[in-house]
Amino acid sequence: MPRRATKRGAERTRLSTDCDVLICGASFAGLAVARELAGCGAEVLVLDRYEIGERQTSACGIPTLWLEALQLTDALQQTFGELVIHTRYATVRYQLPWTFSTFDYRALCGLLAAQGQPFAFETATVTGRTGSTVHTDRGEIGAPLIVDALGWRRVLGSGPNIQPPDALLSRGLEVHPFGSGQDMEVWIDRGYVPAGYGWSFPADGELRIGIGSFDPRFHVREPTVRLAQDLRAETVRYQGNWIPHALRDATEDGVFFAGDSAGHCLPLTAEGIRTALYFGIACGRELRAVLAGALTREQALSRYHAFSASHARPFRWMLRVQRLIPRVPPRLLGASLRAIDRKRFLDWAFGHYLEVAHPRFVATTATAPRLTVKVAA
Ligand SMILES: Cc1cc2nc3c(=O)[nH]c(=O)nc-3n(C[C@H](O)[C@H](O)[C@H](O)COP(=O)(O)OP(=O)(O)OC[C@H]3O[C@@H](n4cnc5c(N)ncnc54)[C@H](O)[C@@H]3O)c2cc1C
Repeated sequence: MPRRATKRGAERTRLSTDCDVLICGASFAGLAVARELAGCGAEVLVLDRYEIGERQTSACGIPTLWLEALQLTDALQQTFGELVIHTRYATVRYQLPWTFSTFDYRALCGLLAAQGQPFAFETATVTGRTGSTVHTDRGEIGAPLIVDALGWRRVLGSGPNIQPPDALLSRGLEVHPFGSGQDMEVWIDRGYVPAGYGWSFPADGELRIGIGSFDPRFHVREPTVRLAQDLRAETVRYQGNWIPHALRDATEDGVFFAGDSAGHCLPLTAEGIRTALYFGIACGRELRAVLAGALTREQALSRYHAFSASHARPFRWMLRVQRLIPRVPPRLLGASLRAIDRKRFLDWAFGHYLEVAHPRFVATTATAPRLTVKVAA
């Protein structure tokens, strides 16, 4: 039976066990992997340093279609049909072809975890790996199938951990004051951040106000405080992290990586939840095929690797646009954003953006839909 309390002190007994699948990280990517393994009959162990849902890792904004596809709408807090973008010289209000919603992190993780039952859960800090043995602060765990869904640090890779500020990482920080609002707002304003953007996402009695910088050397605390103050909001309940903005190999040395550990966060917008879910599902399907005897572990590694890499083009494009926007003079940027406020263009642009990790993937039974690898009988 899963245990869901962050173990502290004497409770942190020694863990020494083996399992069929070891999923390290119990946030979006890790829980999506577990979901795909529900009822597979294998021993699945999920590890995280915190209780499931205990530490919110984002502003929790996602296309509503993803919540619907995964039957997670009970966690939904607020829905937005428009995106309001403020620049120094203009404010535009885009009518979106699909809605965006904020959700409650703890509730969503709980729902997702319930879909993945039965699996065992333990709180432990993962420190590294030797071959198929994962080292934690509570002992060693061996598994033939290992998933690193631990976020940007990619703890289980074979080389040294990715290190800011030189790595391709953005940094994000937000405050969570009580308050309300009707609009999902974004600020592209060098007064706050030279390369990046600010945001305010209302979430049912709470505001998530923050700054993301694509330049990891730029410190975001002062502008986050300033944006919150400009919005007359309290600067309380901070939450921040590094955010990868470049794809990395989704498999390495026999390990599967999903979500931020594989750089699956979208470079232009730092939207990484739906992609963590999407690639987590893809990874889980490959693992399930291995457990069913339909694929070898090596075949699954190679298929998942190729599936992730097949998304490189949109990631590259978004990285280019991410780098271009800060170079556009502010007046021209305002004028350009106004000029593209045409329904046909917005439907096209946001349609393509959603396609990168479309929620229809949830309903497919495909393991790696973009591949034509023959599955051994
Ligand atoms: C301020 C901010 C706001 C953001 N807002 C949004 C947003 O609104 N929408 C959106 O789509 N994206 C947003 N993002 C990006 C998004 O948070 C990430 O892309 C997403 O969380 C990636 O999911 P993940 O499951 O891969 O990793 P994470 O959500 O980072 O989860 C990693 C898990 O691993 C655990 N862990 C880490 N290290 C260890 C260890 N050594 N041992 C054990 N456990 C460990 C952590 O506790 C955590 O549960 C935001 C990011 C930031 C920083």
